[in-house]
Amino acid sequence: MPKLTSQDFMAKEDKFGAHNYHPLPVVLAKGEGVFVWDVEGKKYFDFLAAYSAVNQGHSHPKILDALVNQAKTLALTSRAFYNNVLGEWEEYMTKLFGYDKMLPMNSGAEADETALKLIRKWAYKVKGIPTNEAKIVVCDGNFHGRTITIISMSSDPDAYTHYGPYTPGFVNIAYNDLEQLEKELQDPNVAGFLVEPIQAEAGVYVPEDGYLKKAANLCKKHNVLFVADEVQTGLGRTGKMLACDHENVRPDILILGKAVSGGIYPVSCVLADDEIMMTIKPGEHGSTYGGNPIAGKVAMTAIDVILEENLVENSMRMGEIFRREMESIDSEMIKEVRGKGLLNAIVIKSVKGTSAWDVCLKLKENGLIAKPTHEHIIRFTPPLVITENQLMEAVEIIKNTFKEIGL
Ligand code: PLP
Repeated sequence: MPKLTSQDFMAKEDKFGAHNYHPLPVVLAKGEGVFVWDVEGKKYFDFLAAYSAVNQGHSHPKILDALVNQAKTLALTSRAFYNNVLGEWEEYMTKLFGYDKMLPMNSGAEADETALKLIRKWAYKVKGIPTNEAKIVVCDGNFHGRTITIISMSSDPDAYTHYGPYTPGFVNIAYNDLEQLEKELQDPNVAGFLVEPIQAEAGVYVPEDGYLKKAANLCKKHNVLFVADEVQTGLGRTGKMLACDHENVRPDILILGKAVSGGIYPVSCVLADDEIMMTIKPGEHGSTYGGNPIAGKVAMTAIDVILEENLVENSMRMGEIFRREMESIDSEMIKEVRGKGLLNAIVIKSVKGTSAWDVCLKLKENGLIAKPTHEHIIRFTPPLVITENQLMEAVEIIKNTFKEIGL
């Protein structure tokens, strides 16, 4: 049988798969560290890292061992029974992040849904908001996942159009706008403020210094929960363990996902103190896979790797070098370079019909894959294990690409 080519694999997905994504035309077959290879054997720098899930690098041997060993021993029990890993994982997470309790889920969206439920339970059982009157303040430009409730908070027509009727109870305000936040917090029925410390999917919008701290203080003043979605910004991505750490903010509810498992397994979780977490009683929330032994072992190992390999510090240092190098590129297409740690983006101005998508195609030809978000922004988020030599090699690819484009 003739060997299948990239074209064959893409045609198959196109024919048999739903068209809910528009992938860059590259078919990946292998990954290791900061690199991936396509089915023809061409090697690329992975500058997306599965939307920041693969912070620890592809196929990290230690995390793989944890996965395989636990899969061979006990994979899934459901929460109908106890298992001998979950408690250890819960202790690990609560001690590391400084909370009373953890609630495990699988995807980021599920963890966000869990946080929304916790806010509402707390609203009725602790704050004393009349039943079904609770409101949650969210920001325009947010991305918290794809469920009906989550897209009900979205300001992006691609995310919400034709999925109505929408879940009520959300109040949208502008991101990075403390005045509007304070105004909304006057409403005694507001129970929570859900925010991304940096809006990653929206295009890596970094709020002003002090925004998170002031927002958290305003929430405290008005007895409103400050809830941080760190699914993408967490676990070293921005040069601190949590992006909230840049401002010494401790969210009332912390949402983690993606890199919790280093991309090896879908794992997410929510952390909070007893006053919030204990409002949910047995039978009131759950997930068949949430808290399974593989997830627990993989997550503990994946976070050990972040700590042992100093990935948080590396992210901070590599990020500074990366932004400095990007700012030195002389191209009329580059409008802005922004980010923190290794969560970065360049804002592209289309010149003579050449768009961010065209830049990404050219980068791919030259051996580096990245993806535009919102047509005119290219996000650069390599695995945090990237070395300085590798980073400079990648920087050369990006510089040469702009040189070749010649604009
Ligand atoms: N929250 C944030 C901040 C995200 O960036 C994402 C995904 O990109 C999600 C939630 C949803 O995570 P998942 O795709 O695992 O459901």
